[in-house]
Amino acid sequence: MNTCETGHRNCSSSPAEEPLLPARVIDADPEHGDNIRILLQEDAGQQARYLALSHRWVSGPMPPWVTRRDNLQQRKLGISLNALPATVVDAIRVARSLGIKFVWIDSLCILQDSSEDWDIESSRMASIYANAYITLFADCGRDDDHGFLCHRNPYPSTHITFTAPDGGPVDIYLRKSSEDGTYKATQFASSQSDLETSHLSDRGWIFQERVLSRRILHFTQSKLYWECNEGTFGEDGYTVLKKGLRECGQHDLRFCKLSYGSIHSSVALPPGDFAQQWVRLVQAYSTLNLTKADDKLPAMAGLAAALHSRASADEGGRYFAGVWEKGLAQHLAWSITNTKPEAVHRVYQFYEYSDGSSGGRLEKDSTFVHPGQLSPRPPLYRAPSFSWAAVDGEISFHKLTKPCITFQGVKMDTPASNPYGKPNSIQMTVSSPLRQAWCCGPFEKDFHGAMAPRRAGYTPLYYYDTGLPFGYLLYDSSDDADARDVFCLKIGEPSYSGNIFLVLVRHGAAEAPVSWFRRIGLGYTRDKCSDFFEDAEAKTVTLV
Ligand SMILES: [Zn+2]
Repeated sequence: MNTCETGHRNCSSSPAEEPLLPARVIDADPEHGDNIRILLQEDAGQQARYLALSHRWVSGPMPPWVTRRDNLQQRKLGISLNALPATVVDAIRVARSLGIKFVWIDSLCILQDSSEDWDIESSRMASIYANAYITLFADCGRDDDHGFLCHRNPYPSTHITFTAPDGGPVDIYLRKSSEDGTYKATQFASSQSDLETSHLSDRGWIFQERVLSRRILHFTQSKLYWECNEGTFGEDGYTVLKKGLRECGQHDLRFCKLSYGSIHSSVALPPGDFAQQWVRLVQAYSTLNLTKADDKLPAMAGLAAALHSRASADEGGRYFAGVWEKGLAQHLAWSITNTKPEAVHRVYQFYEYSDGSSGGRLEKDSTFVHPGQLSPRPPLYRAPSFSWAAVDGEISFHKLTKPCITFQGVKMDTPASNPYGKPNSIQMTVSSPLRQAWCCGPFEKDFHGAMAPRRAGYTPLYYYDTGLPFGYLLYDSSDDADARDVFCLKIGEPSYSGNIFLVLVRHGAAEAPVSWFRRIGLGYTRDKCSDFFEDAEAKTVTLV
């Protein structure tokens, strides 16, 4: 803790003075005596150090110990630790041993039966975690009843010291490998797996808590890790220096963090950085699980707010449920992919021969999602169809070199308490070249009764008039596989030749105007058909 505070260059941008306490915080002062009590105080304006806790929520009925409207007044007077679960008690014990008086825990500091209070407090999440002196990660805590100061199962480790050829001392830390039982330098002994396999590593809500926290103390099954902007340090000497978010590949993205400076500095990000960071955050976030599907946008709200505050004048703009106004085309150019090994399929290129027969040739092993493997749309409205938050699955973005959509206006109904949370409705009007097309299901014969050239997992699209194939559709969900009459709205061109476009259907509701459309997927043109939009008129449409 002292090394981080005084010796880490990347951590020194932390504010010198103590932060404002969150609106409600637990007063864990040891002065409250043996009969330990916690005070919740709504004390705006007080500055002090505090700890935050990241822990695992288990779905099910609301546990009796959380703070609600009916017990808040009494809790301001005190709560016995005996009435609280092991994870909370452990957090208080750690705070006291570190000499830190205040602790923030969501289940105690947010009224769990008030959606209004929850909206307000979740919009403040960015600053609550960013301002915490340390965030405690209950990695080994299966649920709140099990605590995280648990019995540990450390890997046997040792270290050897010798003198290097230049005369300096060298320490090598070794750990017994779980794979072959030999001692290996800790860097190569899968130490990272402690964090990768933790009870917290795949939880959607934890994502922004990890990215935003200034310092994290991980309590894993085998040992303690300290994580800050300088790197990750195990208690046995295991060290990984921090990579910036931009240097990380897709797979280790969730273990990187935006540097504290990148989120909290008042200086605007350099041009292009905002969109690049956002796209990477969405991609990493989309691989995680949420207990409540409805939380998709709220669990990213803190990050959206924090990053937005650093957008340059040309980036960001208004926030439409995960999609930004400025650089709109790029933010719309997402599709569902799947990077998990079980999604690797063999891709065949199908051909139709002049004698009427057809055949295929193996092109490559590739990852794709067949329409039947996609998730259905959630039963309750979560976001407009043009937002990645409207559907479930891993997201990737297609880089546009020539974006071409014009934003015309928007009608939004979003909660005033949290503009980055779940909207009630959003209708966005845009203009761009629009062309009607026809599509057929993945295993159907086409317009001419033949199997047209197609790639497994990609649904072919056909010219509306001639019925000849011109491109492919990547569906957003399993719900729209029966769509036949579709509309293609160009959003831009990729670095290779061709077009990227939204595939739309008319909004189904009888009262909806004819210019209202709903997105069902993302499309692109085949190499030979990059002139598809050449004669298409720009049309003004409303996306819902
Ligand atoms: Zn540090």
